[in-house]
Amino acid sequence: MYVKELRLSGFRNYKEESFSFCSGTNIIYGNNAQGKTNALEAVYLFSIGKSFRTQQDRELIRFDEAFTKIDVCFDDAQRENEIEIVVRRDRKKQIKINGVPINKMGELIGCFTVVLFSPDELNLTKGSPNARRRFLDIAVSQMRPKYYHLLRRYNKVLEQRNNLIKKLRHTNDETLKETLGVWNEKLSDYGMSVVTYRKKFVETLKTYAKEIHLEISGEEFGLAYRTGFSSKEEFLEKLNHSLNRELEMGFTLYGPHRDDLDIDIGGKDIKTYGSQGQHRSAVLALKLAQADMIFEDTGEYPVLLLDDIMSELDAGRRSYLSGKIKNKQVIITCTDAEDLPESANAKLIHIENGKII
Ligand code: ATP
Ligand code: MG
Repeated sequence: MYVKELRLSGFRNYKEESFSFCSGTNIIYGNNAQGKTNALEAVYLFSIGKSFRTQQDRELIRFDEAFTKIDVCFDDAQRENEIEIVVRRDRKKQIKINGVPINKMGELIGCFTVVLFSPDELNLTKGSPNARRRFLDIAVSQMRPKYYHLLRRYNKVLEQRNNLIKKLRHTNDETLKETLGVWNEKLSDYGMSVVTYRKKFVETLKTYAKEIHLEISGEEFGLAYRTGFSSKEEFLEKLNHSLNRELEMGFTLYGPHRDDLDIDIGGKDIKTYGSQGQHRSAVLALKLAQADMIFEDTGEYPVLLLDDIMSELDAGRRSYLSGKIKNKQVIITCTDAEDLPESANAKLIHIENGKII
């Protein structure tokens, strides 16, 4: 995957700007609050149609503008492609791929792949299970668009089942209670498929990440998918027998929406015992493993987006990363390009107040 051009109009602090990138290392540098992360955010948007910073699309629109229009031009193995996104304050965002409007976000997933590594991504090992499920869901969706559709169906059924549980808390309506069986059947069916996809992904990710992690830090890395059940029957059984507790709590207690990833270093749970550096190495290993997996699977290495991360890594990890990203397209942001040994052969882009200077 090779991003050639990025055009921003009314996006965050950019009025009108065009970036052209080289196929190797690109360094976007400048002082704080000038628009470096904003530019990465724009590139990221083309991969899943959502920002990594906000759920609210309208925040992307420049303060004094009515809408933002961004577009990207990139090469994959087949051809040159263009994606355009328009966000208006009062309407659903519109996306065109090679000039053709898409109806569903699912059509975008998998067209253009990126892997992001930023200080916030440390949440992956430090934060709540939610962050890990989100990582899995995005990673699997990028490689298996079918998974994205499956997950949507699962979430829809989950939402409907949760609404039903909330209703049942206030009424003892037996006919309403009987409809639960249908939702249990659907939820366990979709849920088991979600778990199967995730488990398979995690098994492969683990083999890649273990090796990378060992190379980065010399330490053993462990990864496992943790789920509350191992078959559809078991899941269904749990759903059928937990209604009283669910009525107490007011939501669905079992299913992949409660699953997690167990990550350990040398057999010790990283969340409980990991040092800062161990968290960084683990996340770096997971992200690079994800990128390798995308390459193995699709034949295309994703665009690596590294936000402000070089300063966070020590010399050894930096040099490992530099070796790993050789001959791949990467867009790095930093405040001082001269600090980066990579800058010698890189394309340097200096940003000041939403403008390339
Ligand atoms: P740092 O080095 O601190 O990470 P940065 O260059 O990555 O800085 P960005 O996060 O890209 O900074 O840009 C932040 C700037 O963009 C802030 O000054 C913020 O006020 C501005 N900004 C964010 N959203 C909008 C918007 N919708 N309209 C106009 N400006 C915005
Ligand atoms: Mg930033």
